[in-house]
Amino acid sequence: MTAAVPEIRSTCPYCGVGCGLRLRREADGGVAVQGDVDHPANAGRTCSKGSALAETLGLEGRLLYPVMDGRRVEWDAALDRVAQVFSDTIARHGPDSVAFYVSGQLLTEDYYVANKLMKGFIGSGNIDTNSRLCMASAVAGHKRAFGSDTVPGVYADLDLADLVVLVGSNLAWCHPVLFQRLMAAKTERPELTIVVVDPRRTMTARNADLHLALRPGSDVALFNGLLAYLHEQGRMDGAFVADHTSGLDAALAVARDLSLPEIAEITGLNQADLKRFYDLFARHERVVTAYSQGVNQSSCGTDKVNAIINCHLLAGRIGRPGMGPFSITGQPNAMGGREVGGLANQLACHMELDNPDHRRVVQDFWAAPRIADKPGLKAVDLFRAVKAGSVKAIWIAGTNPVDSLPDADDVQAALRACPFVVVSDVLQVTDTARHAHVLLPAAAWGEKNGTVTNSERRISRQRGFLPLPGEAKPDWWIFAQVGRRMGWADAFTYETPAEILAEYARLSGAENHGRRDFDISALGGITAEDYDALTPFQWPWPAGQPRNDARRFFADGQFYTPDRKARFIATPWGAAAEQPGDEYPLILNTGRIRDQWHTMTRTGRSPRLMGHIAEPFVEIHPADAADHGIAPASLVMLRNPRGHAILRALVSEEQQRGTVFAPLHWTDQLSAQARVDVLVNPATDPVSGQPELKFTPVTVQSYAAGWYGFAVLAERPATPPVGYWTLAPARAGWRLELADQTLPQDWTALARGLFGIGEDEGVDLLAYHDAAAGQHRFAAFNGERLIGALFVAPQPVAVSRAWAADQLSVPFATATARLRLLAGRTGTDQPDRGAIVCACFDIGSRQIAAAVAGGCATVEAVTAATQAGGNCGSCRSEIRRIIDGLSIQKAG
Ligand code: SF4
Repeated sequence: MTAAVPEIRSTCPYCGVGCGLRLRREADGGVAVQGDVDHPANAGRTCSKGSALAETLGLEGRLLYPVMDGRRVEWDAALDRVAQVFSDTIARHGPDSVAFYVSGQLLTEDYYVANKLMKGFIGSGNIDTNSRLCMASAVAGHKRAFGSDTVPGVYADLDLADLVVLVGSNLAWCHPVLFQRLMAAKTERPELTIVVVDPRRTMTARNADLHLALRPGSDVALFNGLLAYLHEQGRMDGAFVADHTSGLDAALAVARDLSLPEIAEITGLNQADLKRFYDLFARHERVVTAYSQGVNQSSCGTDKVNAIINCHLLAGRIGRPGMGPFSITGQPNAMGGREVGGLANQLACHMELDNPDHRRVVQDFWAAPRIADKPGLKAVDLFRAVKAGSVKAIWIAGTNPVDSLPDADDVQAALRACPFVVVSDVLQVTDTARHAHVLLPAAAWGEKNGTVTNSERRISRQRGFLPLPGEAKPDWWIFAQVGRRMGWADAFTYETPAEILAEYARLSGAENHGRRDFDISALGGITAEDYDALTPFQWPWPAGQPRNDARRFFADGQFYTPDRKARFIATPWGAAAEQPGDEYPLILNTGRIRDQWHTMTRTGRSPRLMGHIAEPFVEIHPADAADHGIAPASLVMLRNPRGHAILRALVSEEQQRGTVFAPLHWTDQLSAQARVDVLVNPATDPVSGQPELKFTPVTVQSYAAGWYGFAVLAERPATPPVGYWTLAPARAGWRLELADQTLPQDWTALARGLFGIGEDEGVDLLAYHDAAAGQHRFAAFNGERLIGALFVAPQPVAVSRAWAADQLSVPFATATARLRLLAGRTGTDQPDRGAIVCACFDIGSRQIAAAVAGGCATVEAVTAATQAGGNCGSCRSEIRRIIDGLSIQKAG
């Protein structure tokens, strides 16, 4: 029996809210996860993803030892090879012939060492991060306006605001704990007004007082109109603008280029809604404009950010309680990455590569032999350079660019062609790891120690509470070892992450004296014990000053530009370069779903999380579906000249006409042909380099499946030999969706292959065929245990997925029970729960519908009756929708 160990306080590894968690190893080896009531970011709340972390800790599929050219090797051999090939490549082709592509999942200490190695010792700027895909436009917008990448406000501003404008942010699904905080503020003060600016009617939009479903890409026109309106209505803070800003005239001249009718035309919004929004903004002093990937992931993302900031500068609404522009970051340590210099155009500690003074400060501090003297390649350009052959060795750490970058098949081709690819990751097999010459086993969340920064500049500890499995090592250790072997042993002597944080903190104070925003030099002498005990704090925290955990920036009008004034930026509206047309008439928007994270390497392991949405889909408006001959729940092919993806059609009025939405999460590991980023436009913002992940012209057509199948399986099957499949873990096995355009030669052979049973094994295989109707069903039993069941039909199979998956844990003692399963009929003893709505308590849609039918007319009543919505609250909007839907049916 394992002895219980004390509770560990750590930070969630998913989104940029940065929730504090309390983790306890149970005596039976399990792990209990709870929100940390003392963590200021979440005060004990978690969302469905954070709550399910314990289900994602298994070692199945983990990379446990270094692999070189497909063979297990010792660490020394792998590290020597990486150091040797990088050194040789640099010697022959120069420092810019190598690159690192890292991740917002890395801890700050990992990032610091990787960045120091590349920029200070290799001497190239070629380190970029997947955070380029997340918030580079926010960084660039901040720097243009403020002279620094500073988030002015804090989460408490959401509690204090009278108007919250959410732009391009499905906060309810992507930052659920922050959304719950906002909803709690709204309950407390119903007069708090929420405006959502988003082309889609998301779960967030459903909770808004005003939803502006603008046309994709038209945000700049909307906010230019607001700037002009505020000025016209006399809402300018004249003293603030005169004393602390510059550039208003040019910004205003551009903003005035568009009349209200023109803005209505561009945005697709009616003038009354525009006026209502503009008037709300004008009337409320305490306004927070929070924005996320819908703003950033655009070829004009930086202009969108500045168009928003311009409005706050004009009204002087920045840096004071309850007001300001607020970038909500996607990843757990995207902020830490931008502080530490993880982007190709930055140095550490918010210093800039194109600033000679900053280069000198950093080079002197590191005693580095050289320092990169120009920005490196940003993510999209970096992989283009790999494909073109100018980057000849690349090290990818903790990210999966073959799935997440735009034009993803081109990225795959680049890695296939690259002479030397190193991947450090926690998993043996990912779509990117397949291309590695050297695979390095990295420590995962729960095993490693370090710090992360959340969206409100709060630095928190991630603490290990599990042993390092196999030969896995922390990323900082791996980068430091390579640095030593490349000849810089003295610069990479770290033995602990505490030493790294202390060095980083000292660098942040080097020649700073208040000239730079990022300063945590108070931690410059941190000991290992203090590092272990470090509680969450907000930067800045300069040496010799008390800690200030509610610091806002810029209320004093002091910015980080040379003249200390903020800059208005003229942001002319322009349409995206690649527009829909006759051949590709729909705009593809990609994004996250509630219960998944990135490429599902962790969340895809949790049956509860996969139970919410288990299959890749494309959401399409009913009129567009009709125009393209798409039936609900059928399979469709999304296509453009870059590639295609096969997805399930979700026909929904929540989607704006002319647009489709597809989740970014699915990879070749859990599906066939569902990597949506193969379609995505690789155009980038000219300032930030952030790609256009939300605006790609595509067309859609029916997949013309000859048959559809659904299976539940006790064991994970080998790759199914069919055109379409997608796999999801269930509580006691797997769920599998199948389809193909041609019929298999032998249905029984297909079933046996999926079930993993040979001809002569002692299993009972039941089969039912109605060839005329195209119906085939199989169920295989080993004793009373279900091994697998397969349902085939000419249309999408109408069997309850949740019910069928539950049958894997039910004993089948009688022939009646087996035949009922084969018929796909639920029994009163085994009710159909429906798709999972509440992942925390595993409550399905049918259970909620039953509660509503039984008289529960409010979310609170449903929670009292079923528990659904009673933990993290992420599903409360969906419960509301079920209630509303049933009310409409009753009224009808
Ligand atoms: S909101 Fe959810 S995913 Fe984000 S940090 Fe908190 S628990 Fe993790």
